[in-house]
Amino acid sequence: KLSKRLKEIADFIPPASRLADIGSDHAYLPIYLIQQEKIDFAVAGEVAAGPLQHAQEEVTDRNLEDRIHVRLGNGLDVLEKDDAVDHVVIAGMGGLLIALILEQGLLNHKVSDGQSFVLQPNNEEVHLRRFLLENHFEITQESILSENKHFYEIIVAKYQAGQEAEAWSEEDLLFGRFVEAADPQIFKEKWQNEKRKTKNIIASLQYSKANNDKTLTDFQHKINLIEERLHDED
Ligand code: SAM
Repeated sequence: KLSKRLKEIADFIPPASRLADIGSDHAYLPIYLIQQEKIDFAVAGEVAAGPLQHAQEEVTDRNLEDRIHVRLGNGLDVLEKDDAVDHVVIAGMGGLLIALILEQGLLNHKVSDGQSFVLQPNNEEVHLRRFLLENHFEITQESILSENKHFYEIIVAKYQAGQEAEAWSEEDLLFGRFVEAADPQIFKEKWQNEKRKTKNIIASLQYSKANNDKTLTDFQHKINLIEERLHDED
């Protein structure tokens, strides 16, 4: 059974898409979408031998080799023009790695006009959002979910060569523009949790004396932003 996280990612893939799942691991996402008869072509890319083998086994066990092409390679390098991929998923990795994969993809001409990217960073959402906005991607949708005590954000972005960088405020970059509306309750829980974690970091920095004032000020600033956003000041 597909995890709730992968299921929600799958919901962002429109019917009849030509999909690339980069860092596919067991290829669960493309297998699910094909079994649902929602899509009929996918590339599953993997950079590591172990996961690549898992993906190959899962795909051949179901006789899906014609429809899911499992390929070894770094990031978007596995894509060819003839694949005509219109939706790319990069999920379950750090936001810095996702941004790096996209940056290399842009340099290697592996990103095409009008392509959509369904991204699920495990962290560093601010960095990823900033990267997208500065590199001709428009952020069109966002979502949030929680599973096994983790909060996950999904960011959907469309690449448009001439796209002007949109100016998002510091608050927009931190909280997203569409995340709260997607699930106000989970959004609140995530940021209450972040506030608690940030307070703990401040406390341990003060305790260890390993702090510098700039770091402390940054963390305090983050707490202020969260409190303003949640309207809670305890
Ligand atoms: N995408 C799946 C998911 O969300 O459940 C699997 C996530 S798994 C934690 C991350 C996968 O990304 C690993 O299998 C890893 O080998 C792969 N990966 C990491 N860097 C990559 C890169 N530069 N190109 C392709 N795959 C990569």
